[in-house]
Amino acid sequence: MPSEEEERVVVVTRRGAARLRSGHPWVYRSDLKSTNTAGPGAFVAVEDERRNRIGTALYSSASEIALRFLTSTTVSSDQEFLALVRERAGAALRYRQRVVENSDAYRLIFSEADGLPGLIVDRYNDVLSLQALTQAMDQPAVKQAIITTLIEELAPGSVIERVDPRIRELEHLPQAANGPLYGEKTQTVFTMNGVRFNYDAHTGQKTGAFLDQRENYAAAARYARGEALDVFCYQGGFALHLAHTCSRVIGVDSSRAALEAAEQNAALNGLPEMEWIEANAFDLLKDYAAAGQQYDTIVLDPPAFARSKATLPAALRGYKELNLRALKMLRSGGLLVTCSCSYHVGEADFLQMLTSAAIDAHRTLRLLERRGQAKDHPVVLTIPETSYLKCVLFSVSD
Ligand code: SAH
Repeated sequence: MPSEEEERVVVVTRRGAARLRSGHPWVYRSDLKSTNTAGPGAFVAVEDERRNRIGTALYSSASEIALRFLTSTTVSSDQEFLALVRERAGAALRYRQRVVENSDAYRLIFSEADGLPGLIVDRYNDVLSLQALTQAMDQPAVKQAIITTLIEELAPGSVIERVDPRIRELEHLPQAANGPLYGEKTQTVFTMNGVRFNYDAHTGQKTGAFLDQRENYAAAARYARGEALDVFCYQGGFALHLAHTCSRVIGVDSSRAALEAAEQNAALNGLPEMEWIEANAFDLLKDYAAAGQQYDTIVLDPPAFARSKATLPAALRGYKELNLRALKMLRSGGLLVTCSCSYHVGEADFLQMLTSAAIDAHRTLRLLERRGQAKDHPVVLTIPETSYLKCVLFSVSD
């Protein structure tokens, strides 16, 4: 055991200590009193101003979030730290075995929500995608501990690292390229709710697909019928799920690459008749509404409009414009599936915006389901940031 002097100790302010004791894992740099010898990515002992021990956290020398809390116990050596990392990874995998159904694609490790702050691992059938977002998780020994656990538990074809250049810059990490950490395989086919998707580790947004919507795809398909419009369709997540119950499905996205992937996914599922339109969704909805187009099902799943609290009012205006136009184009008895993945837009804000759109559109919205992200993206009650996705289903009538 290192002596008290050898230990890396970080002292936090009263505010920082209170935050940790309330179950939230972040301490901002402004709440550090002293950092002793803590180096980039090190695990450190955390103490309050009275030098009472709070536990162990991961230190970042660059991020405004200087500490990410790990455990209320004391970690005394690298071996102990790596054993804890492996234990947490194993627990995260077992949790998915309990909560994931009908899919070989889902999030295996979701950062703070799985007690591994800064680490994201997604499974796409036999190809795993790993993202290290903090100095601590980017350490070779930590990544190796994770990879070893993944190989032991899942025997994947490969583990591919996916890097986010912007985050690496913010964390003062050396720039790196996407690439294999284990195995070579980069392409596969995964299946969720019986729908098949191509996966290519080197293309696409996020780590490849919007796995957080998986359960919402199935929910939308339960109610959808008639002519459907999937706005912001990306590679066809909702659209492909709707194709079995709807007579016609049109997907809209501004990304040609996403639409090409969507078309290939449609072919993979034997659905070549699906239609894909490259357009700015705001313009298309405006034109279609003006032309009197009508649908029985409309899905709205835009990118995050509110990247910060300051942009919330503008974001809500954007959401309202989209939803208002969609409401005007739905036939009576039609289905609206409307989503927001902005953490800064709370569920109450979102429902308030929809209320206002319903009034302006002179439509009655009956709430079918109020949903969030799939259970493999767990929401931890003491960490509000873990809850970000809203997906609300309405029956819309005159
Ligand atoms: N519904 C998708 C995920 C949508 S992500 C799924 O479940 O897989 C948001 C999508 O919006 C991205 O594909 C992006 O290309 C697209 N997008 C962003 N801005 C757009 C705009 N103004 N008009 C149309 N599409 C847009």
